[in-house]
Amino acid sequence: MTGLTALTQAQLDAWVRTVSIQPQSGRLPDYIPLLATVDPNWFAVQVECLNGQTYAAGEQHCSFPLMSVIKPFVLLFLLEQLGQETVFSWVGMEPSDQPFHSLIQLASDRGFPRNPMINSGAIALAAHLPGKDSDQRCEHLRQWLNQQSGAQLILDQAMLASVRSLKNEANRAIAHTLAQAGYLNLIDLTLDTYNQICCLSTTVADLAKLGMLLVQPQKSIAPEHQRLVNALMLTCGLYEASGRFAVRIGVPTKSGVGGALLAVVPRQGAIACYSPQLDDAGNSVVGLALLQEMAQSLNLSVFGSATA
Ligand code: GLN
Repeated sequence: MTGLTALTQAQLDAWVRTVSIQPQSGRLPDYIPLLATVDPNWFAVQVECLNGQTYAAGEQHCSFPLMSVIKPFVLLFLLEQLGQETVFSWVGMEPSDQPFHSLIQLASDRGFPRNPMINSGAIALAAHLPGKDSDQRCEHLRQWLNQQSGAQLILDQAMLASVRSLKNEANRAIAHTLAQAGYLNLIDLTLDTYNQICCLSTTVADLAKLGMLLVQPQKSIAPEHQRLVNALMLTCGLYEASGRFAVRIGVPTKSGVGGALLAVVPRQGAIACYSPQLDDAGNSVVGLALLQEMAQSLNLSVFGSATA
């Protein structure tokens, strides 16, 4: 048997042991002061299956900021509120081979953000979240996600203070380029909204619940919107490494610099990992190693052939 239904707790524990003892090539991000202070060896995983079965390993109590893992959910929310024609007039669907905060990419695209999984695209979308100020905009998204998924995301105020303490020149330059091209009006409000939604925090159990919004039929979410978000996660979710991991893992996956990694296994379930050491592209090293092990052993790739 293959697929997530073939998973056992003993097998998950064994894979976790294998990937945790591999030499660590990653490092903690240093540009957000508070992210640099976490224990680099923290690790947690939660698997939630469509049939209701769940599996967990590691330190379940650890909470972490979603950072870029919020991006697919901003997209999902706006697709639901405003529809695809409007949303894709603000952001493209093309993968990028540049880092997630690349200004060069945005400039070469004449200020039109390539996709919603990189900073330019997510900042452009954050400009359209409903609410009169950044607090309301973040709160509205937080409540919607919690209601839909049953998760309990909270805004990590200490992390937000740490993010706000930065000049954050890369994101500010991105916002200015978007504004010059006519894709953004209120630079400060939008950047603060973006910073807040990146600081929504959770545990792997709740992150897996969020992931199920992209797997399970939902009363108030269109299947077409789930499909669009999943496709963009697969092609763009790991930034410049997306193509490589589409081959190695083969399921929609999204990373964040907080160390979170979410994989959606279409029609089967969601896998949420947390491990804060990152590779050069900003993706969790241990998270990706575990996903690779699981995807290959359980034949999770959406590109695999039928099994006997
Ligand atoms: N808040 C982070 C930033 O803009 C999110 C980026 C990420 O997780 N890759 O730098």
